[in-house]
Amino acid sequence: MKFNWRLVHAARNSYATLYAACENEGIILNPVKEPSADVTCYSLNSINEPALKDEIKGAGCITVAGGPHATARYQDVARYADYVVVGEGEYTLPRLLFALEQGDDTAIPGVATEDGYERADTSVRLDAFPAFSQLKGYVEISRGCPFACGYCQTPQIFGHCMRHRSIEEIAAYANRYGHSRFVSPNAFAYGSDGVHPRFEKIERLFKALNKKIYFGTFPSEVRPEFINDRSLELVTGHCANTKLHFGAQSGSNEVLQQLRRGHTVEDVVAAVELCRDHGILPVVDFILGLPFETDEDQKKTVSLIRWVAKNGMVHAHRFMPLPGTPLEGTVAHPIFPETAHLLGKLAFSGKLTGSWNDPEVRFFRLPSNDIP
Ligand code: SF4
Repeated sequence: MKFNWRLVHAARNSYATLYAACENEGIILNPVKEPSADVTCYSLNSINEPALKDEIKGAGCITVAGGPHATARYQDVARYADYVVVGEGEYTLPRLLFALEQGDDTAIPGVATEDGYERADTSVRLDAFPAFSQLKGYVEISRGCPFACGYCQTPQIFGHCMRHRSIEEIAAYANRYGHSRFVSPNAFAYGSDGVHPRFEKIERLFKALNKKIYFGTFPSEVRPEFINDRSLELVTGHCANTKLHFGAQSGSNEVLQQLRRGHTVEDVVAAVELCRDHGILPVVDFILGLPFETDEDQKKTVSLIRWVAKNGMVHAHRFMPLPGTPLEGTVAHPIFPETAHLLGKLAFSGKLTGSWNDPEVRFFRLPSNDIP
């Protein structure tokens, strides 16, 4: 039987990880640009799903869908894909593909079909699976997040308990290449419960790495309240990045509270100032048009964006209610013309990164300088 992976740029790290997990079981996932016999696997997010749905529906082969959208909406996706891998794929996908090869149609936990779904009976221990093999990916150092930000799919997919890859395993992958980037919901939470930092573990990790390290910048952003003298000294002392990327999301404490962000506007201001004190350029995320944002809240966010732009860089997104999140089904607050004008101006002057008004860019493409 031939197994294929439908190439989608935004899911290339999932491909690298799942390629390696399948390869361990003797299964090769061939890259394809269209559905191909015998089995084609897809990773669906909320932006690519409408475009790929018809392709999957019309595919003349067995189709398997996974990824954040398929996990959140597995019942819908099971109406057009033959199998849906719900949640983590490292163990479940090879198990499913092996069963297909054997002609074994016993239901597999973690796989939904039109006939039903049984929850996965496993949880992935990162050390038990390779970060990647011959397809280079970013090394995922931590998974799961104890926070529950209203717009975020991460804890819905990976749970609230943080798990970490061991220092030895991270070093074994990271040291293969000239420079390394990592995947984490909060890189400064490495080795911890996600709330109480264990900076001594990050220091041990850095000492085990012997190539250029990019940490706390894409795709391992950090949380503002984890930024302090100690974490910044670790970055300036060991890492090649001159930027730190972290989320503010709003300039209003009321909105942050409703979002359950677990930090305040004051934490963001302190983080920006500390970055500047240590010679690091802060890159700060904002979400515009959050559903419970009042006009006054939006003005506060605009004022914080103006201040951040003077001290660093802004990375802004328009709010999207993602499936499976607490804010699913909510409606975005309108964006003032003055807000749109300011963001456009900042983008034009190079102070705003990302494409705040175009979610396709956020989900489909990565900036070329982020490609290792
Ligand atoms: S936005 Fe970050 S901190 Fe918040 S739940 Fe998602 S991963 Fe966790």
